[in-house]
Amino acid sequence: MGGRFLSIGECMVELSQADDGHLRKGFAGDTFNTAWYARACLPADWSIDYFTALGDDAMSDEMIAFMGGAGIGTASIRRLRGKTPGLYMINLKDGERSFSYWRDSSAARQLAADGDALRAAIEASDVLYFSGITLAILPREDAFTLLAELRRAKAAGKLVAFDPNLRPRLWSSLDAMHTMISEGARAATLVMPSFDDEAVHFGDDSIPATIRRYRQYGAQMIVVKNGAEGATIGDGTDETLVPAVKVAKVVDTTSAGDSFNGAFLAHYLQHQDAVAAAGFAAKIAAKVIQEYGALVSPEKLKSIR
Ligand code: ADP
Repeated sequence: MGGRFLSIGECMVELSQADDGHLRKGFAGDTFNTAWYARACLPADWSIDYFTALGDDAMSDEMIAFMGGAGIGTASIRRLRGKTPGLYMINLKDGERSFSYWRDSSAARQLAADGDALRAAIEASDVLYFSGITLAILPREDAFTLLAELRRAKAAGKLVAFDPNLRPRLWSSLDAMHTMISEGARAATLVMPSFDDEAVHFGDDSIPATIRRYRQYGAQMIVVKNGAEGATIGDGTDETLVPAVKVAKVVDTTSAGDSFNGAFLAHYLQHQDAVAAAGFAAKIAAKVIQEYGALVSPEKLKSIR
């Protein structure tokens, strides 16, 4: 029996360099990437929708068409007159990637400005997904509007998944980041942090410390990702390490965490077995890091079980 999955955040236009020096256009963003992998891994009786705000320009139209083509619902996306999507560029120099962003005035910053539209979309969904980046791009008042709606969903017994995805540069201060990430966790039933980020920015000295810190906000489950070491599931009783899949050559780690989250949720929603879900997610993430780009085609993932 399927359900309705809603991912909330910002998808951007992505420009990357092709081998011949031309720029290649794509669309990506953490919460969208996770929706992409959830779509790739869930059967057709599940709907996957993306909630954001876009402009009324041709690039917004193209992004919506791209999402629709990927089987991701766009009906609740807000369109704002005179606005445009955010943009980022992947720079390659001596094999090292760096990113430049143009997102300060993107339409997505207003995704929670219409509280009624947000409530309607969340109420129509069974499973919610958002990230620390979703919170970081919003005016503070709007972030609180979103958090209030997500807490309502949590109180109603829905699965609310949150990846803290810590990006200090998107926040006005470290204090603001700590406060709002903790609020994000308070609105969630499942928190999916990456240990290396948490250790740096919250000072956690171990994975159990990360699990403890997030559990205090009332999440039922914490899944701590830790790169090649695997992921640890803390459910309040046990802490279980599910190893990563060994990869001979890592090509591009973009979207490792996002794909893990999407695959984990897809499996967990069908089988309610977190350990098995983490095993499946490790296989999907291992495939994703052996390919270039954030979005690996569903055909390439099909054989993974
Ligand atoms: P993030 O991209 O959010 O920093 P991680 O780096 O922890 O997340 O990676 C997420 C998941 O991707 C890991 O739990 C693991 O399954 C997989 N993964 C990441 N790096 C590797 C690696 N070098 N080898 C195998 N699996 C990896």
